[in-house]
Amino acid sequence: MKKIEDLVDDIYKVLVKNEAAEGVDVDKIVDNFGEAMKNILKNQLLTKHEESNALRMSSIGKQDRYLWYRHRNYKAESMTPATLMKFLYGHATEELVLALAALSGHEVTHQQHKAEVNGIKGSMDCVIDGMLIDVKTASSFGFKKFKEGNIRNDDPFGYIDQLRGYAESLGHEEGGWLVIDKAAGHLCTHFENFKYDDPITERIDYLKCMVKDDNIPEQCYDLVPEGKSGNMKLAMACSYCIYKQHCFPDVKVFAYSTGPRFLAKVENYPKVPEIYDYFDDK
Ligand code: SF4
Repeated sequence: MKKIEDLVDDIYKVLVKNEAAEGVDVDKIVDNFGEAMKNILKNQLLTKHEESNALRMSSIGKQDRYLWYRHRNYKAESMTPATLMKFLYGHATEELVLALAALSGHEVTHQQHKAEVNGIKGSMDCVIDGMLIDVKTASSFGFKKFKEGNIRNDDPFGYIDQLRGYAESLGHEEGGWLVIDKAAGHLCTHFENFKYDDPITERIDYLKCMVKDDNIPEQCYDLVPEGKSGNMKLAMACSYCIYKQHCFPDVKVFAYSTGPRFLAKVENYPKVPEIYDYFDDK
């Protein structure tokens, strides 16, 4: 049986040699991949889904204030076509990576397997060689955190708690991520053991009460100085957050070459254009 530690090297071999590992049912994997692509187009792109504000396994690691807004149906920023496109090809890429894992001879099971802990539901990506695995597409910056094992110290999207929820539902003490750097094409795995963490059930029970409490939770992140300009910008996680306008109603948005930058305090007006309609419905 293949070992999860060899997964990335084995996938690279498939790519370099243009052949699947011995004994693999290539036709079945290709068919499954085709079905997954059909599912993405039919059920994710071309089907309208009811917006749900219920806590889900995929959200239990998110910040308290974010979940509080969401539970109360606060108006969220609408996503740009570019962001929606990124999500779409993120899903497609993750399916491709899973197909490559199977072609490399590793045992991929539990795909979209239902998970439930204390009434919170979700569906996991898969189990590979017996290890619970969440597949992620990441920027080069996000990828580095997984590759260097830093996700524990810097997890603004709550990936650890999400995985701990799935692990709890399976009765596993560990799990990991198979990550693709969407810009550079590199792959890596990173594994975490949850044996000595507080039970995820405590976090879930806390969240169920927290979202019903009328008191708004504390602001999740402090503002960050923008170099030596005297300006203060939103922390990275806040700049991605779809509720930032509620936390920072006076925030100004500027069109830097690296993307929009959100300044909550402007001492020196930036030499790039301000985007006045950023928060208008797209
Ligand atoms: S904008 Fe920042 S502080 Fe406000 S809910 Fe989002 S992450 Fe939390």
